[in-house]
Amino acid sequence: MQRAIRTIFPAHCLACGTQVIDDGGLCGPCWRDTPFIVGLVCDKCGTPLPGFGDGHTVLCDDCMTIARPWHRGRAALLYRGQARRLVLALKHADRTDIAAPAARWMVKAARDIVTPTMAAVPIPVHWTRMVRRRYNQAALLANEFAHFAGIDLVSDALIRARFTQLQDGKGRDARFANLAGAIQPHPRRGAALAGRDVLLVDDVMTSGATLAAATRACHAAGARRVSTVTLARVAKDT
Ligand SMILES: [Zn+2]
Ligand SMILES: [Zn+2]
Repeated sequence: MQRAIRTIFPAHCLACGTQVIDDGGLCGPCWRDTPFIVGLVCDKCGTPLPGFGDGHTVLCDDCMTIARPWHRGRAALLYRGQARRLVLALKHADRTDIAAPAARWMVKAARDIVTPTMAAVPIPVHWTRMVRRRYNQAALLANEFAHFAGIDLVSDALIRARFTQLQDGKGRDARFANLAGAIQPHPRRGAALAGRDVLLVDDVMTSGATLAAATRACHAAGARRVSTVTLARVAKDT
């Protein structure tokens, strides 16, 4: 059946549209151009670190100096070049087809931190933004992630309590101030997180202000351990 479908609708590279053998992947050249994170990573944000590690937890400079209320975190891609184009296409250009393959990359990146009893929880967007974009890319990723990782999805446990200005172009302190208290447990459905381990899912981590605000909201809802996974991490040298 799969084969029949593929003959009618051949698979195309997510980035350049070239025909590819595997459904929902990248062609060879685009794969090589996409900065997948491999090797030793910061245990809180997933940014790549030099060296090989000795099994001990390591943190990047940012995560040693900024409050990171969550337990552990991973990212699949560095937010630059081809990865940045894919994230922007998913976010702004209705390329919802990117969510499934991207979530598979995220499952791979987060394999060390995911446990079977976790609940995947997307970072919420304010409803006014939802009206304009029609979908929440974090919710699409969380849905696919939960499917591929075989964990529960709790999609509506958090809400944007107020509209926040876009974070783009803001400095770190401004980002944290902008987000403080902006994410809250849903008045009724937040209870679904009580006593649960949570995996927060978002498209991009920049300062970590959004993930920190969401982690606090999960804790306020009674969640146990909160971890994070993002499709892409903005690293300092990008
Ligand atoms: Zn390609
Ligand atoms: Zn870090």
